[in-house]
Amino acid sequence: MAVKVCKFGGTSMADGNIINGVKKIIESDAERRYIVVSAPGKRFSGDIKVTDLLYSCYDELKSTGSCEKAFAPVCTRFRGIVKELGLEINIDQILELTRRRIEKERSRDFTASRGEYLSARIMAEVLGAKFIDTEEVIFFDKNGLFDGEKSYKAVSAAAAGEKLAVFPGFYGRGANGKVKTFSRGGSDITGAVVARALSATLYENWTDVSGFLACDPALVDSPKRIKMLSYKELRELSYMGANVLHADSIFPVRKANIPIQIKNTFRPQDDGTSIVPSNIYRPCGNVVTGISGKKNFTVIFIEKSLMNSEVGFMRKVLTVVEQEGIPVEHVPSGIDTMSLVVATEALDGKLEKIIEGIKRAVQPDTVRVIENIALISTVGHGMSSSVGTSARLFNAIAAAGINIKMIDQGSSELNIMVGVANDDYERCIKAIYCEFFAH
Ligand code: ASP
Repeated sequence: MAVKVCKFGGTSMADGNIINGVKKIIESDAERRYIVVSAPGKRFSGDIKVTDLLYSCYDELKSTGSCEKAFAPVCTRFRGIVKELGLEINIDQILELTRRRIEKERSRDFTASRGEYLSARIMAEVLGAKFIDTEEVIFFDKNGLFDGEKSYKAVSAAAAGEKLAVFPGFYGRGANGKVKTFSRGGSDITGAVVARALSATLYENWTDVSGFLACDPALVDSPKRIKMLSYKELRELSYMGANVLHADSIFPVRKANIPIQIKNTFRPQDDGTSIVPSNIYRPCGNVVTGISGKKNFTVIFIEKSLMNSEVGFMRKVLTVVEQEGIPVEHVPSGIDTMSLVVATEALDGKLEKIIEGIKRAVQPDTVRVIENIALISTVGHGMSSSVGTSARLFNAIAAAGINIKMIDQGSSELNIMVGVANDDYERCIKAIYCEFFAH
C-alpha cells in the first residue's frame, strides 16, 4: 500500500481550530500515516512563533539562570491549544517537566526544540497515534552533519508496525548525545528524512500557501502558480530565497525518487506544486519556471593579465577565503578576471583582511570590491533548449534601464544568474517576470 509522510508547518499548528482541520486532512486519506509537525506558528501578524519565544527563554536562562518569565507565554500558548482541542492530557505537568529540563540542559538547541516536541505530543494525542521522539531516531555526526545511514535505520525501526505515528520536526541528537537542531525551518528536512526512511510514495508538505509561485508575490501582483518543479529547479529557487520549503529538504528524498507535494492546509482542495525527479518531470510549456533572488552580496573582483595561464591561481585565491571560514556563493570568471561572490553578512568585518590576503597570494593587477549587490536567478529546464532565452532576459533588463553588474550561467543551463544593485532588485524581478510570464 502507498504510504504518505505529511509534514505540517507552524501555521498549520497555530491553534486548536486549525489543528482540528489538520486532523480531518489526515483522516480523509488512509495513506497519510506518518506525520511530522513544526512548533505552533503565528496566528496573526504581530504574533510570535513559539520557536522565537523559546529562543527568548534561552536568552533569559543564560543571563539569569532561569527562564521562568520567558517560558510563561509558551505555557499560555500550549494550554490554550489543549483547551481548544478539549484534550485530556495533563499539559501543566508536561510543561513543568519541559521547563525543568530546559534549565538543566542549558542548551540553545534543546530549548528551541521544545516547540516541536510539545506540538508533536499534542498531535499524537489528537490522532490517537504513536509519538516517536526524533531525539531517539535522528542523528548528527561529530561534524554536526546529518547522519543519514544511522537515522534512516532508526526511524524505520521505531515506526515498524505503527499504523499512525507523529514525529517532532527540527531536531535530532548530536554525536555528544545532546539535542541538536537543523537550521531554521528545518522541520521540512525532518519530513524528508522520515519519508526516505519509510520509503514513502509521497512526501506531502502542508503549509499556508498553495505551492510555489513563479516569483515573490510581494513584488508582482498574483504571479502564476508553478504546478510542477524538478528537484533541481526547486533547489535553485529555494536556495535563492523562495522560502516555501527548506532548501536542504530535497536531499533525502531525491536519492529515493520520492516526489514532494506542497499543499495548503487552509485550501486542501488546491493542487499545490509537485516536485519530482527529472524522469517524471513534464515541462510546463514556459521556458522559465520561476524567478527568485536575494539581496546583500559583496563581489570581490580580481584582474590579472594572463591569469588563465597561471597554474593554481584560483586555488590560491579561494584558499584565502577558506582560511577565514567564509563560504563563496559563486565564482564567475573571464580570461584575465575572476570574481568571488560572497554573502555580505558572512564577511563579518573580514573584507580588508581577505583583500590583503589575495594581494599577497596572487599579486593581482586590480582588486575591486562591489557592495550591495542583489542576485537574481531565472530558472527553468526549458531554458537550455530554447534559443534566444538569454537575449530576451538581458533585453528585458536593459529595457528597464537596469545595469547588469555580473552574469553567471550555471553549467547545467538550468538557470541564468544576474547581479544588479540592491536598489534595482525589485524592478529587475518585475521586468523579467513581465517578459516571460505576462503574455
Ligand atoms: N520551528 C522551527 C523554526 O521556526 C523549525 C520549523 O518550523 O521548521 O525554524
